[in-house]
Amino acid sequence: MKTYGPDHLKIEQMHSTKADADAAGHSHYFTGEPCRHGHIAPKRVKGWPCVECARLAYEKKAPRHRRPREIISEQERLLRRKAYLVNYWKKNKEWLSEKHREYYQKNREREALKDKARYEKNKESIRKKKKEYYEKNRESLIKRQREYRKNNKEKIREQKRAYYWKKKGQPGRTKK
Ligand SMILES: [Zn+2]
Repeated sequence: MKTYGPDHLKIEQMHSTKADADAAGHSHYFTGEPCRHGHIAPKRVKGWPCVECARLAYEKKAPRHRRPREIISEQERLLRRKAYLVNYWKKNKEWLSEKHREYYQKNREREALKDKARYEKNKESIRKKKKEYYEKNRESLIKRQREYRKNNKEKIREQKRAYYWKKKGQPGRTKK
């Protein structure tokens, strides 16, 4: 059985006039008479009288997409969110990807700056470590270097040439 109002009155427990209901502190009353729109339903003491009229008005005012949040299932909510994001991406693809690119560019620069700062700060110890490492692995490093040189003669020559032209401030020559 449906109950109405905060005091959960059943229809048969309701007063038949507004004045009686109000005096008893009830939120609703029931006359048994149809409202202006033909509903035979309880009426409220305060606000919009006919409960059925109020319900219809609420539904009209609150279409599907404005249903209260708890009525929408979690899955539906996620699907909507996804659809929204996909549409948003499609609509704004160009400037969004531009923005992303800018962001990563900036980020990379920032990281490089950080690296540089870190290096400057620890220059001495880094150099010392490098030197220690070199001393310790001298033999194998020299051997490896020699082998690398032997295997990449052409490449090294090319690099040296590029470095030379860069130092001289000449425009880079086109590679063959
Ligand atoms: Zn009504």
